[in-house]
Amino acid sequence: MLSQIIFTVILISAIALFTYNVRKISRNIKLGRPLDRTDHKGMRWKNMLLVAIGQSKMVRRPLAGILHVFVYAGFIIINIEVIEILIDGITGKDRVFSFLGVYYTMLISAFEFLAVAVMLGCATFLVRRNIGRLKRFWSKEMTAWPRTDANIILITEILLMSAFLILDASGTVYSRHFAPGGLSDGFPVSNLLTPMLKGISLPGLLLINRFCWWFHIIGILAFLNYVPYSKHFHIVLSFPNVYYSNLQPKGGFTNLPSVTKEIKMMLNPDAAPSEAAPPAPERFGAKDVFDLSWKQLMDAYSCTECGRCTSSCPANLTGKLLSPRKIMMDTRDRLEEAGANISKNGKFVDDGKALLGDYIKPEELWACTSCNACTEECPVNIDPLSIIVEMRRYLMMEQSAAPPALAQMCSNIENNGAPWQFPASDRLNWAAPLLSPKAGI
Ligand code: SF4
Ligand code: SF4
Repeated sequence: MLSQIIFTVILISAIALFTYNVRKISRNIKLGRPLDRTDHKGMRWKNMLLVAIGQSKMVRRPLAGILHVFVYAGFIIINIEVIEILIDGITGKDRVFSFLGVYYTMLISAFEFLAVAVMLGCATFLVRRNIGRLKRFWSKEMTAWPRTDANIILITEILLMSAFLILDASGTVYSRHFAPGGLSDGFPVSNLLTPMLKGISLPGLLLINRFCWWFHIIGILAFLNYVPYSKHFHIVLSFPNVYYSNLQPKGGFTNLPSVTKEIKMMLNPDAAPSEAAPPAPERFGAKDVFDLSWKQLMDAYSCTECGRCTSSCPANLTGKLLSPRKIMMDTRDRLEEAGANISKNGKFVDDGKALLGDYIKPEELWACTSCNACTEECPVNIDPLSIIVEMRRYLMMEQSAAPPALAQMCSNIENNGAPWQFPASDRLNWAAPLLSPKAGI
């Protein structure tokens, strides 16, 4: 009875803490500007099915992709077994679903194979990251914490799967020697571990069994509460993030209606405005996380830090300061900072900091070629380019802080209606010799 009470208290506390942390993240995402992404529901569900559930973009890099599918599918399916553990823990029973007989044996056997697949996947990822030192996991923004975070996740998953297999093995040995007719001998993977447990006394066996049981479930609940502090939160957010991704033509920019109208008038003054220009926004572009949309903030929390964007970014590949992964990590870090500020003060109190300047430097932004490769490569449809464009817009329109060549081009467009340094009246000068009588045209 005592263990049932302890179990129930731990379970309720873990769920309450997880809910509290998820609500904080949800509040932070809602700090973003409104954006309507409720259109084309059919297309959105299709994207989610293909990209998030089907992992279609992950498998473009086959080794990492297939191993990730093992880990993702295995981890989710095996956790169905957690339902049994929860019922056992609350009711004080052992293997409440074992009445299913042969079906139970088949189910647990399948889980055991998946557990091995998860362990193999995680072990390979650990080796690639730490021994193979894959370049994208050792670049500048992958400082000690992001690397440790990834290792914690992979090691935890291996430990949880190991506990699951040893739990089954110890249960099988116990049944064989001390409770015939109990747990089946038919679990193929954990059966391979039973020789290791041979000769252990009954108390020793029970100790191992109970230790693995508690380790497994407390590990899962601890993992659940680690996830909101980790890049691993993508296991929750990648689904809505893909659902709400941008369906507009790839690389298309979001023009401001008020500015578009003004430019049209400038290029063609004869076109009298048929209606009043739409009101200009409070601020052009983005200086801080509050100027980004909720979707851009959700992107930041969904980033898996895989670095596929950065490894495809032509600016990064040619040695520029820009890394689209860093743009996403910086956005998340600043948002976390702003959220902590709100939690502490009840509302956001100006801390004299901003995403642009304190986290992301203009040099990074101007290095972007706006090729859209980062968005195209991202396995969860994150759009770093849209954040870069918004911050450039702020630099350009609020601070007139563009690189000289760009500032010159914009001033030419404003004054001459063209990017070049010539007045519109000189536009056909190049054709003058051709039009002269001597040219005979
Ligand atoms: S759009 Fe910009 S950040 Fe993204 S890959 Fe291209 S150059 Fe890099
Ligand atoms: S933005 Fe996408 S591709 Fe880039 S690191 Fe994050 S998850 Fe990976």
